[in-house]
Amino acid sequence: MRIHHLSCGTMHPVGLGRPLVCHVLLVETPRDGLVLVDAGLGTLDLEQPELRLGRLFTRVTRPVRDPHAAAAHQLRALGFAPRDVRHIVLTHMDLDHAGGLSDFPRAAVHVHTREYAAAVRHPDWRSRGRYVPAMWAHGVDFHHYADAGDAWRGFEAVRQLDGLPPEILLVPLHGHSRGHTAVVVETAGGAVLHAGDAYFDHSEVHGDPSRCPLLLRAFQGVTNVDRRARLVNQARLRVLAREAPEVTIFSAHDPHELPAV
Ligand SMILES: [Zn+2]
Repeated sequence: MRIHHLSCGTMHPVGLGRPLVCHVLLVETPRDGLVLVDAGLGTLDLEQPELRLGRLFTRVTRPVRDPHAAAAHQLRALGFAPRDVRHIVLTHMDLDHAGGLSDFPRAAVHVHTREYAAAVRHPDWRSRGRYVPAMWAHGVDFHHYADAGDAWRGFEAVRQLDGLPPEILLVPLHGHSRGHTAVVVETAGGAVLHAGDAYFDHSEVHGDPSRCPLLLRAFQGVTNVDRRARLVNQARLRVLAREAPEVTIFSAHDPHELPAV
């Protein structure tokens, strides 16, 4: 399977002093078409951020208005069409990860059951601001998966996904949101692990000692639904990074973790 790393949206949060990206994987599978891991910001989000993402989010994160950064546009440049994307696997359903869903109305969307419940079935006051129902209002074919399944390198409750190759796995890493997961893609060249928002700064998992800018640390503390679970899962990623250097681990928003094209 061939993997392309895309940056689908850039944000310049007030006071951070450096940009954040939306790291998306485009996976070419042998028999199941194209698979996206996370959808990043979509065309509508990047055209009219205030309308789709809300005024507060737009003011604080200051996304660059560039619809060409949406995955749908970038894959055209790679010679594909949006209809070639048959599956989208989401680490979670926050607006900066699910915005691109609207650009792929025919794709099946795979997500953890707890996340699906928090965002779609039973949204509560904690959902406000982070989940945007308009992003799945076109009638998404959701496939959701509860905590049960196999193990992968010490992580439990790992799931294979309906209609997808067994090399693509959902790995629960709850904490940032209710049903946050990592997504693993095993390739001949080694495994890649998209950690979503399980951490925000490369040095948090790959640094010795672990470090994170104050603002990003504060942001994670404000947005997480289970701080303890988030920190435990970050620690597990640090162990994996140390003990399995052949696994490429990256998060959604650190631009340093995007391979240079
Ligand atoms: Zn995010």
